[in-house]
Amino acid sequence: MECIFCNIIEGNAKAEIVFEDEDIIAFLDIQPINYGHTLIVPKKHYDNFLIVPTEELNRLTVATQYIAGAVKRSVKADGFNVITNNGDSAGQTVYHFHFHVIPRFDEDFNFKPRLKNYSSGGMKEYADKIRSAVSKYKDIYNGQKN
Ligand code: AMP
Ligand code: ZN
Repeated sequence: MECIFCNIIEGNAKAEIVFEDEDIIAFLDIQPINYGHTLIVPKKHYDNFLIVPTEELNRLTVATQYIAGAVKRSVKADGFNVITNNGDSAGQTVYHFHFHVIPRFDEDFNFKPRLKNYSSGGMKEYADKIRSAVSKYKDIYNGQKN
């Protein structure tokens, strides 16, 4: 399937590239939330966060920290968001994994969804579900740490 980020990486589509090494490319988002909004993208195609290999994720995280600092300083932002959208419901539109670095300014806009409250016992119920899934995948996690 055609992937716009793969096209950019292969040099077949234009982008304002701000950083590039053997594994990673960073370029400006074409429709920024704020000016300077930057995407940090692995050169290898992974559809989403869950399938990026650990080694690659480590390098991407380090590059994202580096670029976030550069973006913040260069546009004189007060802060920034680092986000990754995964799945249609989360707003993912390009299915080639990437981090967004979005510079933020005091009182630029409100990013807050309506917050929920757990019903009585609801918090434990959700924690139990997640604890059960976490313990199921613990061997994989421990394997990746070593
Ligand atoms: P997401 O919605 O998290 O999948 O993010 C995809 C982002 O890629 C959106 O914010 C788009 O504005 C951006 N985008 C799509 N096409 C291009 C392009 N050709 N160059 C730069 N950014 C793009
Ligand atoms: Zn791709």
